[in-house]
Amino acid sequence: MCKKVITLSICVLLSFSVIISAIPSSAYSTQATSNGNPAKVSFWFAFFRSEPNLSFGNIQAIYLNGREVTVLGYEGGYAFVQDNKTKNKGYIHKFLLNDKTLDITKEYDYVYVDMEKEGSIKVNYAGEGKLVWELSKSGIADITQYDDRSFSVTGLSPGTVKLTVKCNGNKDSCIINCINKWEEPETSTAKNNFSLLHTPDSSNVNLSLSKGTAIKACGNIPNKKDYLYVYIGSVQKYGFISISDFPGIDYVLTQYHHYDNGYGVRFSSASNKIKDYASVLNDVTMENFNLKVAGFVEKYTSVADECKILRSGSVTSGNISAACKQTAGHLDGTCLTTANLRNDLTKQFGAGSGNISQIAWTGHIMTSNLDDRSNSTLGVGSIIITPCGVVNSSNFSNLSNSEVRKGSLYTLVHETGHQLNLYDYYCYKDMPSQGALCSNVNCADCNGVPHASGCIMLKRVKVEEVDIDSIYCDECDAEIRKYLAENLD
Ligand SMILES: [Zn+2]
Ligand SMILES: [Zn+2]
Ligand SMILES: [Zn+2]
Ligand SMILES: [Zn+2]
Repeated sequence: MCKKVITLSICVLLSFSVIISAIPSSAYSTQATSNGNPAKVSFWFAFFRSEPNLSFGNIQAIYLNGREVTVLGYEGGYAFVQDNKTKNKGYIHKFLLNDKTLDITKEYDYVYVDMEKEGSIKVNYAGEGKLVWELSKSGIADITQYDDRSFSVTGLSPGTVKLTVKCNGNKDSCIINCINKWEEPETSTAKNNFSLLHTPDSSNVNLSLSKGTAIKACGNIPNKKDYLYVYIGSVQKYGFISISDFPGIDYVLTQYHHYDNGYGVRFSSASNKIKDYASVLNDVTMENFNLKVAGFVEKYTSVADECKILRSGSVTSGNISAACKQTAGHLDGTCLTTANLRNDLTKQFGAGSGNISQIAWTGHIMTSNLDDRSNSTLGVGSIIITPCGVVNSSNFSNLSNSEVRKGSLYTLVHETGHQLNLYDYYCYKDMPSQGALCSNVNCADCNGVPHASGCIMLKRVKVEEVDIDSIYCDECDAEIRKYLAENLD
């Protein structure tokens, strides 16, 4: 994987390592030119400082999300950068940049990298001794070690990789993990005294803070469900707190929304539309369960896209409703099924888990359109959403924008119900003969399973036209609470 890129980078990094080993580490950040990585502020704001420390006195400017800089080096938790517009040089906390190069110094037992999508990182070690690595899960990423001081990891997926880096000659063990940074922080006030942690490891306390302190919850680490990544304005520090210390959020479910090229062709502003649906879902789960559903949206190339690209070179409005026409039988004719979309999704992004959902939104019409509206089930961390519920069933043109929105919200909230351990209670209407029972053993009609009538697991509820706390009925509500307490606590 990425062999070409690695070969090209080796000579650059080899010469880089010679430079950094020849200069003292205090000068490392400002002198090493790294390779002048372009980077952007990837948080809602960041302080641009004259020095890499936390005093109010040295803040030069506030940079908003998207501000472009060039990374010249690192010092502690800071990147030394040059602003692309003003050409001023200064420091920005490296967690707030989308730069994927990490430095490790011996002050850090752990290093966190924001990995919102599959990608690669470079790791440079500026301390004493050698650097060796080990992956806690094997076979999910490729590692190339260049020398004693740098290596590169490719093929990382969001939230799935914990990389342990041991620095020989020191006791340090550096763990690289992934923070999901939320778009909008949730602000709250501490109800009790609490600890701000340097890392999500309670043995490593940064500060003890008191009741009444304002806290912004800024993100989470998918594999560490007990912690939130927070910002404390009064002391200007980022860190971790136990989720039990954060009033207002009791649980976090992370959903990665992947929309394919077909979806992008079918719906304009696809990314914003899905962010909007994710935000309504979050309102529903926060109000009902104090469950934060952190949603991340990105475009991907699905197997259904590939089918159309094979057929006519690209995905267009003219082929998003077309069947597979590969002469040899593309994937034996199974390309346009939800099962195959799921295989492909989980191959690309991982299978999901109890607190991580991988969601595919496709704009392509599936082979069996009427049966394949969406697809998710208990204990499976992935959801497939097809256009079936939001297109005209005779010609597959889109329904009106407001119908698309209603249908999409229903599907997302309903399918998330399955992720939270709920069954379908509606009738599958697949009885082979009149009078026979449908295949849904939980069907309220055929199998007489008692179920509250207004529940989204029973009927197509218009999420924004009913009471938010009646969307999941009392029974489903109790089931979700049980699931959250057992699995997300
Ligand atoms: Zn095909
Ligand atoms: Zn369902
Ligand atoms: Zn039925
Ligand atoms: Zn229900």
